[in-house]
Amino acid sequence: MNPQQAEPWAAPGNPPMSTEGPTAPPASMLDSVAGYESIAIGGEERYLPPPVYPVTIAEGGQPQPVQQWSIASIDEDAARQALIKFASDHVTYSRRPAEEMVFKALKPYNMYRYRLESFTESRSPEWKSEPYRNQIIDNCGFGPPPPPWEVAVDIPKMFEKSKKKIQVPQTASVKECHKCMATGKVPCNKCFQTGQVKCWVCLGKGNRLGNDRCDHCMGGGKLSCKHCSGYGCQECNECQGQGQLFFYIQLTVKWENNKFEQVVEQQCGFPTQVLSKVNGQQLFSDQQIQVYPVMNFPESRIKQASQQGIQEHWAQFGKSSRIIQQRHSIELIPVTEVHFQWKGKDHTYFVYGTENKVHAPEYPGKTCTIM
Ligand SMILES: [Zn+2]
Ligand SMILES: [Zn+2]
Ligand SMILES: [Zn+2]
Repeated sequence: MNPQQAEPWAAPGNPPMSTEGPTAPPASMLDSVAGYESIAIGGEERYLPPPVYPVTIAEGGQPQPVQQWSIASIDEDAARQALIKFASDHVTYSRRPAEEMVFKALKPYNMYRYRLESFTESRSPEWKSEPYRNQIIDNCGFGPPPPPWEVAVDIPKMFEKSKKKIQVPQTASVKECHKCMATGKVPCNKCFQTGQVKCWVCLGKGNRLGNDRCDHCMGGGKLSCKHCSGYGCQECNECQGQGQLFFYIQLTVKWENNKFEQVVEQQCGFPTQVLSKVNGQQLFSDQQIQVYPVMNFPESRIKQASQQGIQEHWAQFGKSSRIIQQRHSIELIPVTEVHFQWKGKDHTYFVYGTENKVHAPEYPGKTCTIM
């Protein structure tokens, strides 16, 4: 057996794997752009603090809630209809207790709900590169690029989450590809640029057991490299064979709607968390770039909730994003505690929300057989 034939890939004539550059573009390749000095190439989104804008406070011009309102508490008929519907909505419940009950008392409670929404925008710039295919090179020749927070971006629908990626104007450039040294090709790492690999049938020996010639490689011990079709090199995946890369700064702009909600409850054993699914009667609402805590409301806990919510939102979102718009509201949610008797026994349930939903965990018709 000829040893040179057996291992041609180890022959000293083969060039070492040194012509391929690093994967990520070196930082030195990137132009220093004013306002974007410390940004990274790809990777995690890192949101920038917003610039500080002077806030104009409208003196005395803030709308405040009305002081007087009245809300009709439900009557016995509505209370009964609500409970009948509740029983009907549960396949295994009997409607009889609802139809036959004798009312003892209806006790109305007013629950208030304060809701705050802060619609925020955050911006994260990063360097991007892609194969150069005659993209328009919008570079510094047209003037300095706008700083991250001055790039013009159309705001999508208010109070709805969304995201946009934008090429920052005047940041584009074209560079030679660092990975293939602008050749568009990289060496094949399967055959070490020889275009040939060891025959897998005879393991490169050229013959088989009993010294028969290997008919797979015709005794040569080598096969053409499938990976590079025998060329010894492949298209550079960084520039997709173009030899040049198009660089630019991409700005990721993210909009989010952040919510704060608090129900001022009355101690009546009613689980207030179920109120999130129902509507109330709106007593007050306001929408502005910046809303102000509600000052003028008879229930002091609503004033506290408003103050707390607005403070929390500014502390949480004011540093890493820009609050574009806020809106807040106060709703009055009617809750009625109903006491009734059925078959000589006392029971209670609650009717709540403008939808007259029922909360009746101890409804006596639960254990009845369907009539
Ligand atoms: Zn072979
Ligand atoms: Zn190859
Ligand atoms: Zn390349």
